Amino acid sequence: MKSTFLKSLISVFVIFVIVIAAFLIVLAGRVRNTLITQFTENLKNLTVVSEPTCITLMKNGRAGETQSSIVSMGKALGIRVTLIDSTGLVLADSEHDPGTMENHLNRPEIREARGRGFGQSMRYSHTLDTDFLYVAKRLVDSQPVGYVRFSMPLTVIQTFTKDIRKWIFIAGMILLFLAAAIVYFYSLYLRKPLRDIRGFTRELTAGNLNARLLKPVKGDVAEIYKDLNRMAEKLKDSFTFISEERDILTGVLSAMVDGVCVVDTDLKIINSNESFKKMFFLAEDPLNKDIWDVIQLVSFLELVNKCKTDKSHKTTDLAMGERGTIYQVSSFHIPSFDGWAFVFADVTKARNLERIKADFITNLSHELRTPLTAIKGYLETLEDPGISLTERNRFLRIVRDNTDRLANIVSDLLTLSDLERVERAIEHDRFDLNDLADDVISLFSKEAKNKNLRLEFTSRRIPEFVGDRFMMQQMLINLVSNGIRFTETGEVKLEIDVEKDQFYVRVSDTGIGIPEDEIPRIFERFYTVDKARSRAHGGTGLGLAIVKHIVGAHGGKVEVESELESGSKFTVILPVLTD
Ligand code: ADP
Repeated sequence: MKSTFLKSLISVFVIFVIVIAAFLIVLAGRVRNTLITQFTENLKNLTVVSEPTCITLMKNGRAGETQSSIVSMGKALGIRVTLIDSTGLVLADSEHDPGTMENHLNRPEIREARGRGFGQSMRYSHTLDTDFLYVAKRLVDSQPVGYVRFSMPLTVIQTFTKDIRKWIFIAGMILLFLAAAIVYFYSLYLRKPLRDIRGFTRELTAGNLNARLLKPVKGDVAEIYKDLNRMAEKLKDSFTFISEERDILTGVLSAMVDGVCVVDTDLKIINSNESFKKMFFLAEDPLNKDIWDVIQLVSFLELVNKCKTDKSHKTTDLAMGERGTIYQVSSFHIPSFDGWAFVFADVTKARNLERIKADFITNLSHELRTPLTAIKGYLETLEDPGISLTERNRFLRIVRDNTDRLANIVSDLLTLSDLERVERAIEHDRFDLNDLADDVISLFSKEAKNKNLRLEFTSRRIPEFVGDRFMMQQMLINLVSNGIRFTETGEVKLEIDVEKDQFYVRVSDTGIGIPEDEIPRIFERFYTVDKARSRAHGGTGLGLAIVKHIVGAHGGKVEVESELESGSKFTVILPVLTD
């Protein structure tokens, strides 16, 4: 900015100098011409005035007298006077000896005077080594008798012109200096608001939106100051609004459980939230990354390809490989920049629940249909009057067994639904778990004995348990009955202990074990590893689902360790409640 300003200042100076120089040259020329004209006029007048004297001198014809008169005339007038006869012979000269002077008839002023009465000329005089102005007049005494010539050196004019030039130059310089000073101070005056505005815009650019032009100025600049201040105010308002909006958006995005990722038209990520980073295990912000570098799933690729051709809202499920997580991704087109927002919701639980629900209905129908088919079939057989009494009794027993099974299923289902009811609060009974365990062991001692199994309970000193006595009994029954049912040889052990403020209820057996990949599913309703075997033992597939609910209602958890053909160990960990 400084150099631009200096350049313009120098340009103004140069223009000034050129104008003044031109002015000086023209003025000096005009002054010189005016002076020459004036001198010529004066010399002309002198020739006219001196004409009678000159004619008289010529008439007298005494050369010496004429010469001295001309010399004194020249002295008196301060100029050179020359008297020339009509043949061009110099009769007298106020500054030279006429005898040494050549014929003057061809001098331009004499030639001109011969024809027009007056003649003038301006030329360089070798004799006096200077420019001379010559004015001659034809002397007429009834007829032309000669010429009188007045001349003066132009040094007078030159000195005069030089003086004038000098003074004009000095005046010009003063003028120039004044002009420069005016330009300089005016420019300083003009630059001040510019400097203020520059400082102001720098402040704004640096992010200080509170910067304002405060200095009171008048006129147009004041209006510009006002406008700029208004502009800064608006900028600040817009900035505040935008940053508030952005804060809200960031807040909402980071508070969202769902992952959100916004991409531009080139599918580069321009915004994403924490949940998105967690879902796709990103250590750093994926800003500006290609979406393909972050999500490399075929189903996602298909969704994005569809989005490109059809901008309507779309949804698809993404199965996250071996982790078993399922994300439902929804696409939303953003028309303002032709980008997309992708919202990822973890629907693993929902999908599993849907599957469990569907399985449950299929299993329930199947579980109910099997005994009902048996009952129906045997009842039809029983209608035949020809069957023997032994057969009748056998069929009736089968019908009763299947009815019992139906009753068991219904009873287990009722227990389950009772446990699942949200409003069902657990009782806070105080009791000794050892007593409860003793009861359960006695309940199954006969069954264990029949199968030739050792049924053991290791009792330890434990604090009173606070919880639902009925539920705890149900839990122990289910676990111990499973142990006995799925064990052919060996033992079933029940241990209750307290470690680190937690109850540990362990039911272990030396039975058939559970395949490792089935372990996560055995707590599902109706899930049985081996249907035929379970049913043969009177199992409904609901026992462990009930156990899981009871443990969950008491704020605990169940862990399973099992090895095929070696046995299983169910560990229920329950918190010690104070009341
Ligand atoms: P069920 O009425 O069939 O026993 P549960 O819900 O109690 O139903 O158990 C589900 C399945 O888990 C059983 O069918 C069985 O395959 C397996 N299971 C449960 N406990 C044991 C165990 N102690 N040993 C081996 N398998 C077991």
